[in-house]
This record gives sequence, structure tokens and C-alpha cells, in this order.
Amino acid sequence: TPAEETFTYQAEVDRLMDIIVNSLYSNREVFLRELVSNASDALDKARFLAVTDPSIMAGREELEIRISADKDKGTLTIEDSGVGMSREQLLSNLGTIARSGTRKFMEAMAAKGDSNLIGQFGVGFYSAFLVADRVRVQSKAPEDSKQWLWEAAAGSHQYTIREDPVSDLVRGTRITLFLKEDAAEMTDPVRITRLIKQYSQFIAFPIKVYSPKKEPRKVIDEEGTKRKQEAADKKAEEKGEPTKQVEPVMKTEYDEGWDWRLENENKPIWTRSPKDVSETAYNDFFKTTFGEFLDPLAHVHFNVEGTIEFSAIIYLPGMAPFEQQNMMQRSKSIKLYVKRVFISDEFDEDLMPRYLSFVKGVVDSSDLPLNVSREILQESRIVRVIRKQLVRRSIEMMEELAGKEGGEDFKTFWDAFGRQIKYGVVEDTENRERLSKLLRFQSSKSEDGLTSLDQYVSRMKPKQKSIYWMAADSVQSARAAPFVEAMVAKGIEVLYLTEPIDEACITNLGKYGSDKETQYELVDVSKEGISLDEEGEEEKAAAEAAAKEMAPVVDFLKKSLGERVEKVTVSNRLLDSPCALVTSKFGWSANMERIMRSQAL
Ligand code: ADP
Ligand code: MG
Repeated sequence: TPAEETFTYQAEVDRLMDIIVNSLYSNREVFLRELVSNASDALDKARFLAVTDPSIMAGREELEIRISADKDKGTLTIEDSGVGMSREQLLSNLGTIARSGTRKFMEAMAAKGDSNLIGQFGVGFYSAFLVADRVRVQSKAPEDSKQWLWEAAAGSHQYTIREDPVSDLVRGTRITLFLKEDAAEMTDPVRITRLIKQYSQFIAFPIKVYSPKKEPRKVIDEEGTKRKQEAADKKAEEKGEPTKQVEPVMKTEYDEGWDWRLENENKPIWTRSPKDVSETAYNDFFKTTFGEFLDPLAHVHFNVEGTIEFSAIIYLPGMAPFEQQNMMQRSKSIKLYVKRVFISDEFDEDLMPRYLSFVKGVVDSSDLPLNVSREILQESRIVRVIRKQLVRRSIEMMEELAGKEGGEDFKTFWDAFGRQIKYGVVEDTENRERLSKLLRFQSSKSEDGLTSLDQYVSRMKPKQKSIYWMAADSVQSARAAPFVEAMVAKGIEVLYLTEPIDEACITNLGKYGSDKETQYELVDVSKEGISLDEEGEEEKAAAEAAAKEMAPVVDFLKKSLGERVEKVTVSNRLLDSPCALVTSKFGWSANMERIMRSQAL
């Protein structure tokens, strides 16, 4: 027999296995979902490779997953005809951690140590040890002439690799779990099938489970028919009637033996007609595909036809990712398929603008080449069309959510992703106006809630032509600003902009409203020279008189403050405060200066 080599896991693997075993015990059936999803990834890769090198399919044309159990031996086997793993790959993939799913799990664990929640994450291959005392992996990769056998016991820090004495795989991986005694129920095909239906219904490859034949067969029950005939004959004889042949009695028989039964619907959900897909199916697809544990807030499923054809399903997630500070980073949010072949989830930068990175979905195009690369994508007119559509549909989806009765879902959405929309107003000039309708801020009239700009406009004073805002680090300080006081006292609403991005968002927007007639300028109340549009003649006259009267005071202040101020003027914008410091019309606001200062630190 070929020599066996022993290796030690990377330290993180030990730690991960501890966490998995300790936090997932009550939810340990997730191992099957994990192994099936790995098999599916491997099949995706095989299909993708076959595009450029069809020879890798030779001898094993089917791309599929087969699951079987042996009750007597207490084993469960999951086999796929995917890319398999060479010796090197076995070493690097099943001995270290460098994978997205696992990282996500670790982060979730750090954020909320809730094991129910963790059950929803992709915890990966090592979850096999939840149910197995020993795990054996046999694998054959096209680029490696040999089949390898990886094996490890639960709780051990080591694993072994050797050349597999049974070299029976053409391509792919067979994972055999030697089940723990208390996990013996996992050999029950009914149980396995139920788990497949629950967790893996959207896997795009056939999943076949080895189960007893269930196909019923109707056959004539000879015995029963004979008894019925006899009874009928007897009755006829008693009444002196001629005997008649009775209808045969039927019984159900089941075919003997076992069979590979297809247990999932492996037709990709986006290729089905939206009217045939239930809400639950869309939600489950979202959760299983993106490792999310909350239902999405909204989705759209659409097919674009014409010169460029593609289908897509996009979702608004129910919550922001854990890694809040990384919200603007790439997130594998959009999975690109070409003619049902999974290409990559790393092209989302080309398929969606940065500010919409929270929108998740799948896109399947039949117009792109299968061997599409980033370079091709960036040059592609098709991609530009797809991107435009994805943006448009995303915005429509958010608009629809905003219009939904009750507003709770939109509030959830805004809390999680409002900041991204504000970035969108800054970055996406083409859609700025539509995005501006989604904006929400606190204001002097919004009480504890938020107001949209439309709501603000509906409350404006009859002659008011501007939307007023005050930027500050908190609602309290915005409210306490001297110029705000006076405006609020006059019944004029002021928006309180308290997030760093707010001011950039509002100044980029500049005006609100699509129609020239009803467009409102967005005005910073902390800047000089604001004339309140609704002032009457009387107030204007009073202001002029005050300016004349105060001229000596103004001169005195100018002299004493010298270089430290740009100018001194008389204002009619104050109520209780004797004076206020304001910034000039064209400079940064005090709030912006504060933000710039804090970022320079
Ligand atoms: P993840 O799937 O998030 O990458 P896993 O722990 O589930 O993490 O799997 C680790 C790695 O092992 C995978 O990335 C893959 O490279 C490899 N692997 C696991 N199962 C298979 C399989 N059935 N076929 C080929 N490679 C596999
Ligand atoms: Mg995995």
C-alpha cells in the first residue's frame, strides 16, 4: 500500500472546529447542506472548466451529486462529479481556513454569539465532524493522475493523506462520514431526503438519494378476488340466481430494491416564470444562495428581451452586513451566470455601482461569452446595458418599498442602507433625482421620526421657496443653533443633517423637485445672506431700520475683531441670541469644517 503522510491542521482550523462543535450541536444537520454546497461549487467549477477544455468531462458526462447511506456500517456518503482535489488542493483546502463562508461565520460569532443564528451561516467542510467520528475524502482532479485519500478523526489535530488504493473515481470527490452513534438516524433515506428538500432545493445540479423504491404498482389480488368470487357465488346460489364473475380486487405492491431518486428541482429558479415561483421559494433561494438568515425586504425577478437578453433576480436584504465599516467594499453580491453556467461572483463592481453593493442577486446572460473575463466585461456594451437595468430595477424596488403601506419595511431598509443611498445621490448623477425622493432626514417637524423631502414640501409655508437645513453633529446641537431657533419659532421647518455624508449629499443635490416650476433650493441656514422668502414688506422695512440703527455697533465689532472675521452684519434671523457666528455663502459650513478636521486627524 502507498505510504501515508500525517499533517497538522492550521491553528485556526482547530479553533473553528471547537466553535462549530460547541455552538452547532443542536443544529448539526447543517453538515449536509455544507457538503452539498461544496459539491455544487465543485460541479460549477467543472462545468466552467469544460467550456475551454471539454476533455475533462470524458468518461463521466453527468454533473451530479449522489448521496447514499449504509445503515449496517453506519456510514453516509456524498459523492460529486465536480473538479475534485489534487493532493496539493487537499492539503490547502482541508487543512487551513481562507474562505469567505467561514470568515462570515466567525464574524457573526463575534457579533452575536447566538447559535440559532450561526446555524444559518456557511460553516463549511468541518461541520462534517458534527455527525461523524471519522471523515474520509476520496478525490480525483483532472490535473492529477492519481486519486487521493484524506482522512481525519473528530477531535484530532491531525489528518492523513495517501494515494487511494481504490482508484475508482473518474473525476470528483466522495466524502464518507463514519457516523457517531447518536447520529445513526442520518442513514435514513427519508431523513436525508427531507434535509435535501429543506436546505438544498436550489442546488442547480441533480441530487440523487439512494432510497428504497417507493413506486407503487397496482396488481390483481388473486386471493381477495377468489374470496369475493366465492362469496358472490354463494349468495347467488342461495337466491337461486345464475353466478356472475366479480370485478377483480386490486392491491398495491412496491417494487423491490433500491434506486437513485432525484430529490431536488435542479432547474434554476430564475429560469422559471415568476408566476410559478412562490414568495417562500424566492426567500429561501436568497437565504441559501447568499448565506443570509433573514428574509429579504423585497425582490424583483425580470427578463429582458430584445437585442440583449438576460434574466435576473435581485433582492433588498433584511439587514446590513455585520462588517458595517466595510459596507462600501466588494461583497460578492451579484452572481453572474452565462447560459446557466456560474461564471463568477467577483464581477459585481462591473455589474453594479458601488453605492448599490448591498443589492444581492443573480444575473444570467446568454449574450456574453462563457469564458468572459474582467477585461471583456469592462469593454462590453452588453454589460453596460445589464448594469443600467440592474440599477433601474434596484431603484424601482426601493421606490416600491417606500410606497408600501405602514412604512415599516422601508424604515428597516433605510436604517440599514440609507447611507448608501446618500452616497448614491452624490455619485450617480443620472439617477440623483429619483434617489433624492428616497432620502429621509430628521427635522424640526419630524419629531422622533424621519421626513422625506416630499413631506417637507407638503408642510412648507405658502410663500416658502427653499428647503432649509442645518448640519451638525447631533440633533440637539442642530436644534440649539441660533439661526435655527428663529426659523423654527417662525414655523419654518429645518432639516437636521447629522451624518457626515448628509451635507455632501444635500449640496450635490442642490435643488429638489423635477419640475422647474416646483423646484426648491436646498439652503444651509448657517450661511450668511439668507432671505426668508416669506417676509412681508413690513418686516423688510424693520430690518432696514435696524441695520441703520446698529451701524455704529457693527463698525465697532469690525474694528475689534479685525482679521478674525470676514464681515459683520445685522441679521433678522435671531430670536433670543444676541449674535451668531456664520460661515460665508461659498465656503464650507461649520459642520463640514468639523468633519474635515476630524478626518485629518
Ligand atoms: P468554502 O466552501 O466556504 O470554501 P469549505 O470549508 O466548505 O469552505 O470548503 C473548503 C474548501 O475545500 C473549498 O473551498 C473547496 O476548495 C474544497 N472542497 C470542499 N469540498 C469539495 C468538493 N466536494 N470538491 C472539491 N473541492 C472541495
Ligand atoms: Mg463550503
